[in-house]
Amino acid sequence: MPRTRRSTASLYLRQRMRLRSRPLCPMSQGFVPSLSLLRAEYTHVCLSCVLRGRQYFFLGDMVCLKKGGIHSWRMTSVLRSAPKMRSRPSRQHDRKGGFMKYADTLSRRGFLVGGALTGCAAVGMGLAACSPRSEDSRVKAVASGSDRDSVNSVEPSFLTPPEPIADDDIGEIKDADVVIVGCGISGMAAARAAADEGAKVIVVEKSPRFNCRGSMGSQIGAVNSVYQQQAGYPRFDGNELVNRYMQDTLQMSKQSFLKYWVDHSGEDLEWFLELCNVEILEPGEMVPEEGINGNVYIMTKATALPSGRYPVWPTAMSINFDPSFPEDAGFFYPMQSFQSDVESKGGEFLYATWGRQLVQEDGRVVGLIAQTADGNYIRVNARKAVVLACGDFGNNEEMMAYYAPQASNLTCTYNCMDANGDICNVGEGHQMALWAGAAMEKAPYAPMSHLTDVADILLVDRSGKRFVNEELGAQSLSNVIMRCPGEVAYCITGDAVGPKVLQPGPDAKKPDPIATVEEAAAVVGCEAATLQDTIDRYNELAAAGEDRDFGKDPSKLTAIEPPYYVYEGHPGSMLVIMGGIDCDDSCRALDKNGSAVSGLYVCGNTQGCRFGAEYPMTAPGISHGLALSLGRLAGANAATLG
Ligand SMILES: Cc1cc2nc3c(=O)[nH]c(=O)nc-3n(C[C@H](O)[C@H](O)[C@H](O)COP(=O)(O)OP(=O)(O)OC[C@H]3O[C@@H](n4cnc5c(N)ncnc54)[C@H](O)[C@@H]3O)c2cc1C
Repeated sequence: MPRTRRSTASLYLRQRMRLRSRPLCPMSQGFVPSLSLLRAEYTHVCLSCVLRGRQYFFLGDMVCLKKGGIHSWRMTSVLRSAPKMRSRPSRQHDRKGGFMKYADTLSRRGFLVGGALTGCAAVGMGLAACSPRSEDSRVKAVASGSDRDSVNSVEPSFLTPPEPIADDDIGEIKDADVVIVGCGISGMAAARAAADEGAKVIVVEKSPRFNCRGSMGSQIGAVNSVYQQQAGYPRFDGNELVNRYMQDTLQMSKQSFLKYWVDHSGEDLEWFLELCNVEILEPGEMVPEEGINGNVYIMTKATALPSGRYPVWPTAMSINFDPSFPEDAGFFYPMQSFQSDVESKGGEFLYATWGRQLVQEDGRVVGLIAQTADGNYIRVNARKAVVLACGDFGNNEEMMAYYAPQASNLTCTYNCMDANGDICNVGEGHQMALWAGAAMEKAPYAPMSHLTDVADILLVDRSGKRFVNEELGAQSLSNVIMRCPGEVAYCITGDAVGPKVLQPGPDAKKPDPIATVEEAAAVVGCEAATLQDTIDRYNELAAAGEDRDFGKDPSKLTAIEPPYYVYEGHPGSMLVIMGGIDCDDSCRALDKNGSAVSGLYVCGNTQGCRFGAEYPMTAPGISHGLALSLGRLAGANAATLG
């Protein structure tokens, strides 16, 4: 029987009830989920408050109105003018056999055909070999071990595959064409795309329901979608964005993926929302308090134009949901509509079920061994392919220390919990892929770090000297502060700008006003004369209307007059870590020699080749956008190419 919204939601709420027996958060009086994998300083508040603190302090355009002890959010920023729209957008492209036809050379079909040519050997072999409960000694199972957490070993423990789970321990066998492991936005997109291709799909997800991100205002990035056109976003040349993005990621992204996203993300966003009622809000209009059940609201937001030293393209749309729904999940309704669609095509969702092992026969991935909450093992045979969509590894300390030591001091604020109340993003998908012979993309890996809205402050180091153009935001500014003595910088503002903070989290309390430079210097711990010189010089540049020292946009140079505010800022927090499994243009996992691991696809944050060394703010929402577009591509390819 198809799983309905009521059944998944009630399962989730039961899980929440269980969590509510845990200690209360002093800020929200809500429950504190199990945060055993998070850094110690966050264990006394709930993640909801941590994240709301981030939004309050960082985006600077949201305020928290306490209503009966429950936080709710309203946008206060100046919103972009947009026409009102209630109906679904019409399709922009013809489709053939479920796929779009494009004239450009780097089309979705081009990817599929290219994949088919290079992958024909893999497609041709092994499909008949996935006999249930095979005793064949060639069957190799490799297991995921989330219990491994030592960071001191020279050879990290997660690189050694654990013992395979014996066939005798398998209690149940299921058959599918395509098995998807992980049901965030990328896994859900892969599931629907595979089902659209006629594949029997089984999705294995360890949480009580699918996971989707965000509170009010989840951003998703797309290029020139119907929604953006209707909201009055300017059209732009995608190639310019791609080239700038390549530059911002130090040429470490796969350019073909960015080009693919630029060409297809518009239609993919329409696909994401096509089963929902969509309403585009007028500038300044709020999501109606009463809501309309099942509605998705697109908030249009004044988006920077791609100009200046740090151009930002108008890619992001803010997806909101009916406020009558109790959870913080901006993408809930589109995700729910996808699940219903997949189920109507014979697909199955196994929630509260952990993917533990990939099963290989003669090197080909032919299935998955999963484990239910009560410990029973299920073997799910994949006649065509397995897609790993398990998210990132930002909360696996050992993997962070090994793969991204430069970011291992950043607090990871990812907030989805599995059915046991443990944090989800611990790299199990990466591990399963590695044990099956796949390789990580080349390092370094970008932490998604958001230090934003700080362009109009003066930043000084511990000696009281200015050291950077403060217009830098996000990970770029984190990178600079990480290289300051003590990994610390001080935000100095005056009366005109008022108090500003640089870092999210419960410690980010707004500073009190300070009357003199001597007192401000005492907070920084520097010589008063040095700080006085720095402020005098900054004020001189502001008066001249030109930043001759660091080249900041003159409109962001605001003279600093008392009262002063001093805030101690750190490199920030990290939402997710972007390093993933190496892959080809068809999203097939690659081994260290660049050959496809047959039968294995990756998407979302388990997939590499998207961001390289930097997650820049050049195209806001691109992480969700790529997860959607490449998830769709991976699912379609898994179903058609195997
Ligand atoms: C607080 C926050 C805000 C963000 N805001 C934005 C934004 O505004 N715009 C933007 O573009 N990006 C944003 N991001 C980043 C974005 O949400 C992620 O990059 C994106 O959602 C990743 O999608 P995914 O499908 O790869 O992974 P996830 O959404 O992490 O989903 C992975 C799923 O796999 C499951 N899983 C993992 N291991 C297993 C296993 N062994 N067995 C079964 N299931 C498993 C997990 O439970 C999870 O449900 C934000 C991230 C955070 C944390």
